[in-house]
Amino acid sequence: MVEKPFAISLDKVVASLDSHAELGLDREVIQERMNQYGPNQIPQYAPKKRWRILTDQLLNPILYILFAASILAFIFNDILEGIAILIVILISAGIGFFMELQAVRSLEELRKMGQSKIFVIRSGKSIQIKSFEVVPGDIVLLRTGDIVPADARLMAVDNLLVKESALTGESVPVTKQTRTLPQHSPITDQHNMVFRGTMVTAGSGKAIVTATAKHTQLGHIQQLGIDAIEERTPLEKKLNQLSRWLIWLTLFFAIFVIIVGYIRGNDFLLMVETGVALAVAAIPEGLPIVATIALAQGMLRLSKRQVIIKELEAVQTLGATDIICTDKTGTLTEDRMKVHAILYGDESVDDAYSIEVSSSVKEHPVFNKMMLAGVLCNNEDPNAIKGQGDSIELSLMEFAKYLGYNPVSIKENNPELLELPFDATRKFMATAHSHGERFHVYTKGAFESLIIHCDFIMNATGIISFDTKSEWHAKVNTLADQGLRTLAFAYKETQKLPTSKSIIEGLTFLGIIGFLDPARNDVKATIDIYKKAGIKVVMVTGDHPGTSKKIAQEVGLLEMDASPDKVIIAKDFVIGDNPDATVIKRLLNASVFARVTPEQKLDIVKFYQKNNHIVGMIGDGINDVPALKKADIGIAMGIRGTEAAREAADVILKNDGFTAIELAIRQGRVIFENIRQFVVYLLSCNLAEILSVGIAASLNFPSPLLPMQILFLNLITDVFPALALGLGKGEKDIMERPPNNPKAPIINRKDWYNIILYGLCISLAVLGIVAYAYLVLELPTETINNMAFYTLVMAQLFNVFNLPKHTESFWINEVTTNIWVWGAIVLSLGITFGAYLITPVAEALSLDPVSMHQLILVILFALGSLVLAQLTKRSIKYCFGKTPNG
Ligand code: ATP
Repeated sequence: MVEKPFAISLDKVVASLDSHAELGLDREVIQERMNQYGPNQIPQYAPKKRWRILTDQLLNPILYILFAASILAFIFNDILEGIAILIVILISAGIGFFMELQAVRSLEELRKMGQSKIFVIRSGKSIQIKSFEVVPGDIVLLRTGDIVPADARLMAVDNLLVKESALTGESVPVTKQTRTLPQHSPITDQHNMVFRGTMVTAGSGKAIVTATAKHTQLGHIQQLGIDAIEERTPLEKKLNQLSRWLIWLTLFFAIFVIIVGYIRGNDFLLMVETGVALAVAAIPEGLPIVATIALAQGMLRLSKRQVIIKELEAVQTLGATDIICTDKTGTLTEDRMKVHAILYGDESVDDAYSIEVSSSVKEHPVFNKMMLAGVLCNNEDPNAIKGQGDSIELSLMEFAKYLGYNPVSIKENNPELLELPFDATRKFMATAHSHGERFHVYTKGAFESLIIHCDFIMNATGIISFDTKSEWHAKVNTLADQGLRTLAFAYKETQKLPTSKSIIEGLTFLGIIGFLDPARNDVKATIDIYKKAGIKVVMVTGDHPGTSKKIAQEVGLLEMDASPDKVIIAKDFVIGDNPDATVIKRLLNASVFARVTPEQKLDIVKFYQKNNHIVGMIGDGINDVPALKKADIGIAMGIRGTEAAREAADVILKNDGFTAIELAIRQGRVIFENIRQFVVYLLSCNLAEILSVGIAASLNFPSPLLPMQILFLNLITDVFPALALGLGKGEKDIMERPPNNPKAPIINRKDWYNIILYGLCISLAVLGIVAYAYLVLELPTETINNMAFYTLVMAQLFNVFNLPKHTESFWINEVTTNIWVWGAIVLSLGITFGAYLITPVAEALSLDPVSMHQLILVILFALGSLVLAQLTKRSIKYCFGKTPNG
């Protein structure tokens, strides 16, 4: 890397980095440099190291308790038990380690997918790479909307403006140049450099990378502040809180069981071990990890469908989103702009492509001027391929070519001397060209914005005073009402080269072009799904209200007979910080905001948030960045979006599909629902264990469960079915419910009722079989214990069938159709059977042979718990018209 590259001549910078100004780095040296300097990343959230994952497992308070129990066992000379507990510690830590490793890997994979990209020149070719692959010496090509990937010395600039607020706090973009600067220039004056994390707001440039990753200016700043914060999503935090609360509750309960058992004359060591095992069994230590896996898996599944979620926590917000603000062009429409209607002078053409190449229309002076304006006031390369660039400008270029104009020679004969670039607030652009001794100015933009600068109008006879503005207003509205995107054109000739201020003074109006941009076919069905899901879609666009309304109606966002109130023309509307009640009502009622400026986009997002909505915002330009950041969920388009928009967003739609957002929201809801479901499952199983042991101990029944058995149960029922539930595909009607309340706890009151109900039913089955075997069959204690153990295994596995919500059918629902659940059941039963067959394990678990009659009893009692839970739920529904869980 180079010291003070801004103060050294460019040649020296290139030489000291061993690069080449034209060809860039050789592909062969890239790997070498990557090894030397590392990836171009500043680890804001460092991936957790493997050894940290392992030590975290071992430094778990639950394992301390187990460890204490094993030492006690050794002290009391129960060697087998001591070893068995040590094995349990290893298995439990091992499972925790692999699960967390899996979660960390998925996170890393996800993060890589969300990374921004940049064009570089390597071995003489321009290629696009991920920003983290940039190495010192790389030649990067910067375009409007790019995020600068590393610190770099500029080699060439073309009107390059860079916003450096990320670094300097200064929000006004800085004009860049390439001259060498004095040694002591402060960073704010280093105009021949671009810095990592800053944003190209206009123009383009070429630069050689002088520093990457933590050696960049941004890297220095970030290193001062944060050193690798470990990532925790709010959901994980909520789950951790829940776990902590349960730990205390269970510890209290375990001590109670130990004391009661001991007073009742049980062996003290056995009671201590039972207490310990109970505590361990009842604490859902796997909760946060299983949740992370569920989240990460869901996100990976989405990524296969071209939706990239950059941060895990976005998923929770997605499930809660109730307003989606969307732009129009390209999201709701095809963005296949095509010149359609042309209004020029006193003439008009309805179907532009019906004009013949040989047509006399081309000779009309106004028409001809408009064609020139279309080519000259246009930033697209005449040879650009359609689909890559501004579609309006590309379609103008295409139409000119269709009519036989030669854009390349037009551009060559009219060199551009000045440009007032298009700006979403100004809504027009202008260019000045030399034309012999004189200068020609061409402008194009939104009709209302341009017309205020037009004093004259041109028709077939010449240039006259522009007295027909209101007639033209009506003409534009007629075009817009047909859904056409309109663009006004104006022109002037000057003696002197205009300045960027005078360029728009005293213009001559030429006419209007209406562009066809059909609505996307798939959007209507998606909007219908949103309606059912309680999500409102709002169009927020810079376009004309008429065009916006028509497209909104075509995609079903507005009814055909919608009241005019539903469309707000934002430029005539001040939202303000504290709108009064009527304004609030009007804003909440609106479905289309037209002629919106970028600042107003931000105001709209803030307004909804203030009114307790969770807002998803779709955007693609640099101007959308503040609104994308402010929205609860910023959504950027992968193809159309600028790098800056993608960087600011939480979700990237790789194939630009509006319908893909529906997938993401659905998945967000499904994952949240799955997590809620396995929490209910785990807690009800744990409660069943506590109740069975606790009640048996207080009634002086033979202890239905031994410590090792509880640990074994815990390892099976905690892990496999919970994981399987976490991978569920969700209920069919998930998009027919209102959005989740983000403030609500994971487990609501109804869920707690269910946990208690299921826990009680399972423990009743266990205690029932104990009572029956003890009082009626008068079986030996060991057999009773074994029967209770098997009943608990089965009842807990059957418990998964209690979980489906909102479904009438007990037989066909998202649990019974989840293949993973069946796999988990088979696996759990297989492991239990294996434990029974393998003598040392059977001994450690105190398992004796059971008869067929006893096994049938076990199955009946276990099934009984499921039937009991279902009957209770259904009777409650019958009596109160509602199931406890929905
Ligand atoms: P949408 O929601 O349809 O994507 P938008 O919010 O992106 O629209 P802008 O692209 O800011 O809207 O366009 C606003 C208005 O500016 C357009 O209606 C059009 O009249 C004008 N306009 C758009 N693109 C250009 C351009 N390249 N040159 C000049 N004027 C333009």
